[in-house]
Amino acid sequence: MRLSSYFLPTLKETPAEAQITSHILMLRAGMVRQGAAGIYSWLPLGLRVLKKIENIVREEQNRAGAQEILMPTIQSSDLWQESGRYEDYGKEMLRIEDRHGRAMLFGPTNEEMITDIFRREVKSYRDLPLNLYHIQWKFRDEVRPRFGVMRGREFLMKDAYSFDLSAEDGVKSYNAMFVSYLRTFARLGLKAIPMRADTGPIGGDLSHEFIILANTGESEVFYDPAFETMDPMVDAGTAKDDLQPTVDAWTAPYAATEEMHDATLAPDNLITGRGIEVGHIFFFGDKYSAPMGATVQGPDGKPVAVQMGSYGVGVSRLVGGIIEACHDENGIVWPEPVAPFKVGLINLSAKDQSVTDACDKLYSDLDSAGIEVLYDDRNERAGAKFANMDLIGLPWQIALGKRGFEKGMVELKNRKTGERWDVSLDDIVSQMKG
Ligand code: ATP
Ligand code: MG
Repeated sequence: MRLSSYFLPTLKETPAEAQITSHILMLRAGMVRQGAAGIYSWLPLGLRVLKKIENIVREEQNRAGAQEILMPTIQSSDLWQESGRYEDYGKEMLRIEDRHGRAMLFGPTNEEMITDIFRREVKSYRDLPLNLYHIQWKFRDEVRPRFGVMRGREFLMKDAYSFDLSAEDGVKSYNAMFVSYLRTFARLGLKAIPMRADTGPIGGDLSHEFIILANTGESEVFYDPAFETMDPMVDAGTAKDDLQPTVDAWTAPYAATEEMHDATLAPDNLITGRGIEVGHIFFFGDKYSAPMGATVQGPDGKPVAVQMGSYGVGVSRLVGGIIEACHDENGIVWPEPVAPFKVGLINLSAKDQSVTDACDKLYSDLDSAGIEVLYDDRNERAGAKFANMDLIGLPWQIALGKRGFEKGMVELKNRKTGERWDVSLDDIVSQMKG
């Protein structure tokens, strides 16, 4: 992509409406713009990151055996009357009336709708286990939308729902999702700590929140200092498909959210900190299947209410969460798997035709090699170009100017470490491929 024709409205100044780093940087890097409180448009650079995160989440859900579907954003209130949550959800639910006067709503979550799909189609225990997920926009009319996409009103969530015959099998499905979350967050370049959590309005028995530590986080969390040095994640690069750590193994060092914190169980050197909830999983048995009649015929021919769990990931919140964890004083520092482009190519001598020709060729060679590259071909000062690349945080910068061109060299910079190397113009494409 050529920057001269890319829609990337970056800002030099810190926008007044933003308080935390990730929100400031998302606005400054031209990733999002607010439409109304807690409702955002995603501009090209932001959308690329959102899609990358979405895809990693999708791949790991598929790997864990969940099947993707797509449910609508707008739901009928009928199902929510059945589960009893239509009143309970209160003002967080955006209620809409259609032209026939029917009560509709913009879905804040999908337990009711998935339970309805299940009860209509699945009749036998032989069709279990089943895990269905979708990645869809949700709306919650939050009291205080803030911090940009981190607490929006409209936000993108991955929500999966598991169905099993017995509670024992249900916990196995829960564990599979638990492990899948560890892999997902590790692949996103994050250290997310699984913490025992309250089940809240979803209800049920077993729940973990996945939390990334950040001073700006909204959740108060309590954890064993062991987490500061250990890596609670499965190394997603080497993890085998048969790897099955149990939930218990991961809760061994103490970690709990405010609601679940129990000082009598906590270690003496407990750390109290703040974190961002990026995922939340629940096992809630027959809480929805019983009242909604989601039963299957068991092996003995008798109907059994299925055992369910639900599993959320805040896909759009993660964009802000990753920036909170990965930035420096100059801007964003994207982990490579979610970076909008891998490489930023900078023409330092745009007025010089031979340098420009060399840059154009390098751009097209990188592109042909399948490397995602954003090419700053604008007629701007070198300093402004470097500052802009640092702000948007692409993992690698390649700069080519007149002096380097004469020697046949480019300057390669690692955005994260700041290290620089002179690399031969002939070698740079193969080096970037590796
Ligand atoms: P919170 O306590 O932050 O309000 P929640 O417990 O209500 O979250 P869930 O219902 O478990 O959230 O939703 C699953 C995931 O969706 C959360 O872990 C979070 O990452 C994300 N999420 C929830 N509310 C929002 C929001 N208002 N804006 C962005 N992401 C959200
Ligand atoms: Mg909430």
